[in-house]
Amino acid sequence: MKKNSSFAFCPICLNKHEILQVEVQQEDVFQHQKITYHAQYDYCEIHEVQWANEKQLKNNSIRLKDAYRKSIGLLTSEEIKAIREKYKISQEALAVVLGWGKKTITRYETVSIQDKVHDDVLRKIDIDPLWFFDFVLRSKAEIDQKHMNKYLLSLKKYQREANLKFSEKSLYLEYYDIDINDQVGNIRLDPDRLTFVINYLATKVPDLSKNKAIKLLLFADFLHFCTYDQGITGLAYHFNQNTILPKGHEEIFHLERIHIKEIMENDYSKYVIEPDSGVKFDLLDITEINVLDSVIAKSQKSDIEELIAKIRVRTGPSKDKSVDLLSYRIACDLELNTR
Ligand SMILES: [Zn+2]
Repeated sequence: MKKNSSFAFCPICLNKHEILQVEVQQEDVFQHQKITYHAQYDYCEIHEVQWANEKQLKNNSIRLKDAYRKSIGLLTSEEIKAIREKYKISQEALAVVLGWGKKTITRYETVSIQDKVHDDVLRKIDIDPLWFFDFVLRSKAEIDQKHMNKYLLSLKKYQREANLKFSEKSLYLEYYDIDINDQVGNIRLDPDRLTFVINYLATKVPDLSKNKAIKLLLFADFLHFCTYDQGITGLAYHFNQNTILPKGHEEIFHLERIHIKEIMENDYSKYVIEPDSGVKFDLLDITEINVLDSVIAKSQKSDIEELIAKIRVRTGPSKDKSVDLLSYRIACDLELNTR
């Protein structure tokens, strides 16, 4: 029970005195279902009586309905409000854009409970900004330029975020069914750690291309594995034609804090990794940093190409093996060392 107090008129004593505001766990039946929620009341300590003022009645009703919504898997009024505010759109404008009655969203945020179909639409616009964009375009005629610009700005922002989240999820999907074994260096892939490692490399190697980053990752992972029986990133590698690639390589370079910059070189454009200035490297331990530094030092020489050529020879012709994941153990057999 949370308590607050204020000096006010007490409708029980019909006098002015200190009145407590209390929050109690309450159980009510709503839509034939027992619902537990936190209700707020004013409380007279003299007569030990509680009652709800007008504002509390309203809030308690919303709390009861939100608890009910939660229990049957619908968005709460707060969650609906959060989705709307994300797109910086008013209650009425959102209702119009979605083609619903003008007051629909206002009611969902205050007194009524949405049906499942409306709930699904709200959830979908929450996770899919482009889908919401189609709705906005459809009602273009009813939106003035100032508001349109505001919506477009927030749509762009959330589309970017949605893409980033999508990349991380896709990366998880790529790895979800891979056992923790020597094909992933005995550790589970963690996108955050991977982000740190790539940014560390990009900080130390100017104009680091994706291609070179992949080779450095492979070298560092294998080298660390040979000494500590564990890789650094948890990536799984395989040959695709004659190129060595980590599984999910497309997603890796779309992760939130991996920045790819296009630079021009002799009329050709080249994509390089620009280090994220905010990334700290505290997720990496000293043995990992040492291995990364040693790999970077070797990256100027032909060591990496030699290593890849050796692995290539070891794994044999690529045709039927192109999808096979390499065992990190290969590198130890090849007497890979830190010389
Ligand atoms: Zn009283």
